[in-house]
Amino acid sequence: MTETRFPDVPDDLAEVVDRHGRAVAALDNETVLADFRKDRIGQLLGSARPPDGLHAAELLSIEPGPDSLYTAHIRYTGAGGAQAVFRSRWIAMDGTWRVTQVRNVPDTPPVTPFAEPSADGLDTPHWAGLAQRELRIQHCPACGEWIWSPRPICPSCHHDELEWPSVDPTGTVYAWTRTWQPFHPSATGHLPYVVVAVELPAAGNRRVVGVLLDGDGADVRIGQHVTAEFDHSADAAAYPLLRWRLS
Ligand SMILES: [Zn+2]
Repeated sequence: MTETRFPDVPDDLAEVVDRHGRAVAALDNETVLADFRKDRIGQLLGSARPPDGLHAAELLSIEPGPDSLYTAHIRYTGAGGAQAVFRSRWIAMDGTWRVTQVRNVPDTPPVTPFAEPSADGLDTPHWAGLAQRELRIQHCPACGEWIWSPRPICPSCHHDELEWPSVDPTGTVYAWTRTWQPFHPSATGHLPYVVVAVELPAAGNRRVVGVLLDGDGADVRIGQHVTAEFDHSADAAAYPLLRWRLS
């Protein structure tokens, strides 16, 4: 009985979500699309990544919130037992229930294939620093200028022997944006995510850009303090990524 399985959740919602999960697993795209919020179909289509050979769905939970939405978790099983859990949010709309947001969990930020030193090698010391869990920013020992993005010579005094000191990896949010579109295939399943421009007091208020950890749903504001985290990939050959966390 749905009313005992999911307390505080309307019976008709539990039925719709259960049917939706089975439609996804059956690759019944007509039914799946009909469950999507009409003004977000394009976004929702690219928002989650199921396992290959998808064939089964299990509704794990439905809970009220946040706001006036309901949150559901559905586990999908693919070929060879591969699994993925989707978190979907449901809204009462058009006299029924519709998906207004969906993503894979856990809340892992996207890793793009171009997260590596640039071809000209100018920023290689920065990436080498990340591998040492350090934030290194280019600095001119002659005039004291902090430089970002990296240059071959100091833009202030034209000194050409620049250094890469490790700086305090904390700062404040100068600007931010929440991205709802999978602009690159690597973002599929990780939407939405938040990108922040972080001002670094330890490096002359130079600004670096990165993904905010657990930014989905975070109440981000200009001027908030953030701390760097060095996100090591499962691939040992890949460079760690500089992430930011509200502190
Ligand atoms: Zn200089």
